[in-house]
Amino acid sequence: MKPVLILSFLFLSCYGHAQPLVTVFESSQGQSTATYHETMEYYRSLAERTPHITIKEAGLTDAGVPLHFVVLDLDAEFDFEKARKAGKTIILINNGIHPGEPDGIEASMMLMRDYALQPQYHALIENTIVAVIPVYNIGGALQRNSHSRANQNGPEEYGFRGNARNYDLNRDFIKADTKNTRAFYETFHAVDPDIFIDTHVSNGADYQYSITHLATQHDKMGGEMGSYIENEFTPKLEALMGKKGTDITPYVNVFNTTPDHEGFSQFLDNPRYSTGYTTLFHTLGFMIETHMLKTFDRRVNATYHFLEAILELAKTDGQRIRQLKVRQSESIKPGKKHALSWRLSKATSKQLKFKGYEGEMIESKVTGQSRLLYGRNKPFVKNIPYYNHYVPAKEVEIPIAYIIPQGWHEIIDRLKWNGVDYQLIQKDTAITVEVYRISKYNTSSSPYEGHYRHNNVQVVVSTESVSFRKGDYIVYTDQFAGRYLVETLEPEAVDSFFSWNFFDTILQQKEHFSPYVFEDVAWQLLQRDKTLRQEFEAKKKVNSEFANNWYAQLDFIYRHSEYYEKAHMVYPVYRWVH
Ligand SMILES: [Zn+2]
Repeated sequence: MKPVLILSFLFLSCYGHAQPLVTVFESSQGQSTATYHETMEYYRSLAERTPHITIKEAGLTDAGVPLHFVVLDLDAEFDFEKARKAGKTIILINNGIHPGEPDGIEASMMLMRDYALQPQYHALIENTIVAVIPVYNIGGALQRNSHSRANQNGPEEYGFRGNARNYDLNRDFIKADTKNTRAFYETFHAVDPDIFIDTHVSNGADYQYSITHLATQHDKMGGEMGSYIENEFTPKLEALMGKKGTDITPYVNVFNTTPDHEGFSQFLDNPRYSTGYTTLFHTLGFMIETHMLKTFDRRVNATYHFLEAILELAKTDGQRIRQLKVRQSESIKPGKKHALSWRLSKATSKQLKFKGYEGEMIESKVTGQSRLLYGRNKPFVKNIPYYNHYVPAKEVEIPIAYIIPQGWHEIIDRLKWNGVDYQLIQKDTAITVEVYRISKYNTSSSPYEGHYRHNNVQVVVSTESVSFRKGDYIVYTDQFAGRYLVETLEPEAVDSFFSWNFFDTILQQKEHFSPYVFEDVAWQLLQRDKTLRQEFEAKKKVNSEFANNWYAQLDFIYRHSEYYEKAHMVYPVYRWVH
């Protein structure tokens, strides 16, 4: 089915409205996209015409405007808890995270109208609830321009990628620097979707497809849900799209080269990205990327077809997906191994029947060097390798609980925003826990999304008795948010709170020694402590740089003494393992 203008006019007789409900996309013959205000006005008008639609409000965004989500429920109850108990499948569609990529904004407006107003479609969604975020990045949508998507074929005007504070919201799902993300948390946990869709427009390679998909990486999702995504959901989705005449392929993850010789690998959606985040809460997630060089009209229709295919899969597979989600949520258990980072395995590949364009390297008129040129008149269908198998690069054993001293309120806030269950320690007490010391990390030299991120983080672990105070937080991992806890609180995890700079104060020593005073103390320490003396002498022997650096020598003794502060490099979230 294609969204059709004519059908909108038919509603006149049924609903008695003088004007048909037409999107800006439709009235401009596929040239324009609605502004933020036009989009919201459209949904308000739709909600007035049908009892099946309502608009809900979440928290404020950085633009000072609240986030809204629109809900389609044929039973007009709009109660997610009740719907879940009644065995309905819940879908959440997020649009305009990058408002310069408005295809999903337009496709969702038509989809919600068509499925709410046209009774012939109701059979498909009688057991489904569809929630749509009309425009997520409101601040970006308000910054309309015609040039920031340099490679994109329409529409005439669109919003900007950065939000009201120039954050890329599709990197903010863990650190939650923006109010948008907090409003998203509120929406996401209220809706608690079984299927999550995030709509985009691509950059990068050229090929014949109008639309590509980035499924939640199935190895990373893991368990039965991971196998289901890879072996059932995605093939079914591709077949449905084929039937609609809109072929879809995995996102073509190559830049400045063609995929037809070497093939390409699956994009890894780490937790900072939308579907990486929704994976932490066991939701089957898909990003879609329509192709920037196809016309806006064609891209919006491809997005519409995709969303319709999702409704069809929700009907046929909804029950299965809901069961898998429950099992997935129960799979995080203390003592089990859990991956903190992943690497691509090239040991196996899939053959992909790929519809591309021949590419060649020719001399650039601008730089005189070689540049890539795709031959649009040279389409091909070739079998190419597609690498979509990832293996754990680092794993950890899930503890029974994490213990977080109450002072780390930025972390505690984030856990609360994500619906984490916790208990408070009732009285001051010492508990034997695993303690991490940060033994190695690198810090990026340029800012990324407001942070100088840490990577290659390594820890050493010891078991110690640590004093906790009344009011400190015990967070058990055996809960729905267990996976979120492990992948944010383990410092070696790829998008851990540590990597996003929440614990940088422990990386700096607060107290130091005055060398002329410490000289005498150091001498006494060496006399008293034979082991220390031997270590010190041995180090001088093997390390000439150390042997010639008096400050390094005093510092070595200081760090091995009781004067050295306990908090330095000690990660202040503790693992309770038995
Ligand atoms: Zn995007």
